Amino acid sequence: MHFKEKLKENVLLKPYTTLGIGGLASYFVDADREEIIFEAIKWANKEEKELFVLGGGSNLVVADSGFSGLVLHINTRAIESNYKDDKVFVTLASGENWDDFVALAVKNNWQGIECLSGIPGKVGATPIQNVGAYGQEVKDTITEVQAYDRKLEKLVSFSNQECDFSYRQSFFKSQAKDRYVILKVTYSLSLNTPPRLNYPELKKYVLENISSTPTLLDIHESVLRLRRSKSMVIDAQDPNSRSVGSFFMNPIIEEKKLNLIKEKLLKEGVNDNIPEFAAREGMVKLSAAWLIEKAGFKKGYQKGRVAISSKHALALINKENGTAKEICLLAEEIQEKVKEKFDIWLEPEAIYIGFNK
Ligand SMILES: Cc1cc2nc3c(=O)[nH]c(=O)nc-3n(C[C@H](O)[C@H](O)[C@H](O)COP(=O)(O)OP(=O)(O)OC[C@H]3O[C@@H](n4cnc5c(N)ncnc54)[C@H](O)[C@@H]3O)c2cc1C
Repeated sequence: MHFKEKLKENVLLKPYTTLGIGGLASYFVDADREEIIFEAIKWANKEEKELFVLGGGSNLVVADSGFSGLVLHINTRAIESNYKDDKVFVTLASGENWDDFVALAVKNNWQGIECLSGIPGKVGATPIQNVGAYGQEVKDTITEVQAYDRKLEKLVSFSNQECDFSYRQSFFKSQAKDRYVILKVTYSLSLNTPPRLNYPELKKYVLENISSTPTLLDIHESVLRLRRSKSMVIDAQDPNSRSVGSFFMNPIIEEKKLNLIKEKLLKEGVNDNIPEFAAREGMVKLSAAWLIEKAGFKKGYQKGRVAISSKHALALINKENGTAKEICLLAEEIQEKVKEKFDIWLEPEAIYIGFNK
């Protein structure tokens, strides 16, 4: 089928998001072949319609009023692997399910993405925010990103360096926002390499509960267990997982500023150790979840039909029939209280679609 035959009008976006929120897309196309992607882009350019690229919808807040342009739903499928020396280079179409790929890598003993188990969404979105968890980020394994330039309507390829990855950030999310549709991603995974445990919480869990010489499968299962305990794995039976995962990014601030915050807290008689993590020189990364709780929000805090997850302070959830407006109001309340208490503005990790901002 060609693009025109597949093009639909007034499609409800709610079911395409993990938050279960969002109004109608004026136009919607399900792209199961790259040709549909190319035709969709050409059509949107010609008709002067806005275009939004939708993967698994697991990092989105879609407006209640929906999206007035074309939603391009990526559903292309293909996996190819090439062995070279002690590595395997796996190239996947952007519509492949990320977690299925992680499971395949673990099964084949391909090391490098096992800590990224249980993350929802599709392969094509992983370079966008440099998906990461439990001490691994996709920037450590991506070697090439193949994309379609929406402006020049041509194929392009990016090396790892050109993707300009950093914490939850990339070239595609910053300078080149909305410029490219990612078509294929290549990951380089190691053969016969034992797992590396960099993340203290995971390391402790594995060493205490599993083994001092864990396999990739041990790591995969441990990550899934830890994530489930925080409702960070999508589960239809678990309303705490009706979220976008972490709603805010962990803030990276200057060390000087952290010292001022510590002084202020001491004056207020608060003697807590602020959890801090290494970042680039002169900077320090703080835990957004810790800041939220210390700003006075308890896990489970509810506002209208949305809430903070009762398992994780960083996840905002849709309890039942919540709206994007309610999510925005809750997010703003959190941002304002954290700002008031710590002089830090939490930036959303979630992407807002259809809002006039
Ligand atoms: C329960 C839960 C746990 C999570 N845990 C984590 C975690 O541990 N670590 C983490 O990093 N994230 C986490 N996330 C967030 C989310 O899963 C990731 O950001 C994921 O990569 C989003 O993939 P997606 O396919 O759902 O993208 P979508 O939500 O559909 O889109 C996200 C962004 O990527 C763009 N995009 C998607 N596909 C393409 C493409 N082919 N070309 C160009 N642009 C594209 C979209 O336009 C949008 O801007 C979690 C989410 C949930 C719900």
